[in-house]
Amino acid sequence: MRSKNVVITGAGSGIGRELALQLAARGNALALADLDPQSLDETLIQARLIGAGPLLGQALDVSDEAQVRDFATQVTASFGTVDVLINNAGITRFGDFASTSAEAFRKVLDVNFWGVVHGSRAFLPALRASRGSLVNLSSLFGLIGVAGQAHYCASKFAVRGFSEALRQELKADGVHVACVHPGGVRTRIARSASFDQAVDDQEALISRLEKNTLKLPADEAARIIIEGIRLRRERILVGRDAKFVDLLQRLLPCAHTGLIHRLLGRASGRNKSANP
Ligand code: NAD
Repeated sequence: MRSKNVVITGAGSGIGRELALQLAARGNALALADLDPQSLDETLIQARLIGAGPLLGQALDVSDEAQVRDFATQVTASFGTVDVLINNAGITRFGDFASTSAEAFRKVLDVNFWGVVHGSRAFLPALRASRGSLVNLSSLFGLIGVAGQAHYCASKFAVRGFSEALRQELKADGVHVACVHPGGVRTRIARSASFDQAVDDQEALISRLEKNTLKLPADEAARIIIEGIRLRRERILVGRDAKFVDLLQRLLPCAHTGLIHRLLGRASGRNKSANP
């Protein structure tokens, strides 16, 4: 991936920032967006120092369709074409369904799912014109549902279904649609999460997750995703945990869930009775 025009949402932190920096180092032109203008600025400064091609940054909320549409207009006016869109921005939340308000549940869907839909719609004409790549961030939790993450799992399964359907629709236009399933990646995602009232020890939960689950360095995750895009892969599994769950699901479609839930429950420290 060199000399391409690439759009990345959620570029202010974690996987999005690493994608931006690695693509900057290869001289790609980057249009970066994030909700947090300060984090976005830091990524832009680092990308410039590394030697990116033309750079454009925009603070926006991916769940706001009008803002995403304006951004697409701005990017196509500046760059002319768009080769790759990476719908990466995402959030999570810790809390069981019963103690999550409808508003909090909807917020996760608004960002993780509708953000992907708005980005895909806004950049579709440009991607059709370039026969480019549309890359959507799902998750390991878009392969398996786990307790305490009903909102996040719903959003990431939705991204997967949306991406698979769109892939069929856009095949004739030569647009590559990739769905990315990272396992645990060391980023800010758990620290930026919202919690429901039932989570009594948030710091302990975050520490446990960082120690047991969020282990793959973000730069390694970005490297795997970029290679997947370069090879125009349809499913990009990131990390041994994502590959393991995917394999188990294919080999033992009925029997795998008990084992995986036990492993994931242990990693997050949920007590046995709280797990299915
Ligand atoms: P992160 O929290 O480090 O980065 C997410 C970025 O998205 C932040 O800069 C944040 O400001 C931005 N963002 C949040 N809401 C936004 C909004 N409404 N509009 C625009 N930008 C917004 O998280 P990350 O781990 O790098 O996550 C990147 C993607 O990878 C997400 O979609 C996440 O669900 C997915 N993912 C992460 C992991 C993991 O273990 N870290 C695992 C599976 C999937």
